[in-house]
Amino acid sequence: MSKSIEHVTVLGAGVLGGQICWHSAFKGKQVVVYDLFEKGLEQCRFAHQQYAEIYKRDLGATDEQIEQTRARLRYSTDLADAVANADLVIEAVPEIPEVKKQVYRDMAPLLPANCLLATNSSTLLPSDFAEDTGRPEKYCALHFANLIWSINLAEVMAHAKTAEDTLRAITRFAIEIGMIPVPVSKPQNGYVINSLLVPLLSAAQTLVTNGVATPETVDRTYMVMNRGASMGPFGVIDVVGMKTCYDITQYWGNLNQDEQALKNADYIKRNFLDQGKLGLQTGSGFYSYPNPAYADPAFLAEPGLDVVEEVVRLTRPQ
Ligand code: NAD
Repeated sequence: MSKSIEHVTVLGAGVLGGQICWHSAFKGKQVVVYDLFEKGLEQCRFAHQQYAEIYKRDLGATDEQIEQTRARLRYSTDLADAVANADLVIEAVPEIPEVKKQVYRDMAPLLPANCLLATNSSTLLPSDFAEDTGRPEKYCALHFANLIWSINLAEVMAHAKTAEDTLRAITRFAIEIGMIPVPVSKPQNGYVINSLLVPLLSAAQTLVTNGVATPETVDRTYMVMNRGASMGPFGVIDVVGMKTCYDITQYWGNLNQDEQALKNADYIKRNFLDQGKLGLQTGSGFYSYPNPAYADPAFLAEPGLDVVEEVVRLTRPQ
């Protein structure tokens, strides 16, 4: 059995990095969260206040557990300091290949000899960055899902040079922090989760960008088709965050010369990013938070006749 990983450093204190570091600390790990920007750490501290409430409400965490979680967490903008004592570094910086490459290269000379590395990338492969890490055999992907405390999946994906012991230790870590490991048997952009999710989100965005249906119509349709779903595709996009949604859509749109994807990315930029609306994170995206319309039982209720005029308005030929 591999040795347990106790000291974890998370790079990138954004939507996912903020969740991974909080959850790892909650589960007993000593954690440093690093961000290039002080503002990134500030937003992360703010998110952690919210997670404290969510963990108490949804997981029954006690005040003492929350205090212990805080005590195990440290925030840093100094990369050398952040990784100095790490058994494992989880990279969760933006989904932009050049940014990730640079972070790996900057970090390579700073890492302790036995430190393992994992990327949380949603759509890029560990093989894209393995050589930049300077330690390909100690590197793989460990991809977490958004809302880590409830969607407790961790996808494990190797590249050709990943050592088995690395996979062993990282899988053990995932299980120790309460994840259900998802072995991805062959490198594939999008792994399992995003191979399912990205086409759905893209289809939803295309419907809205092209004026075929409103976000509410798309989400209501999806939620009625999938009774029990807590949100539809646009609720999910708000949770993912507009920045990552834009980065992924723009990157793959350019790579595949996909005009529709580029239009969808432009829609997100004009309507949200340019206005500082980043989704759930900032309280405003396709919906307004903390009480998004889709969470109101009325959203899925059989309507009264008062909606007839609204349906006619939305159905009128343009
Ligand atoms: P984000 O934009 O919310 O956060 C990125 C953070 O990285 C920001 O705080 C930013 O200041 C920081 N940063 C930027 N450049 C940096 C650098 N050079 N060094 C260190 N920090 C830097 O992004 P996110 O949504 O948290 O996504 C991060 C990674 O996690 C991506 O690879 C993404 O694909 C993946 N991921 C995201 C989700 C999601 O739902 N948002 C889900 C699973 C995986």
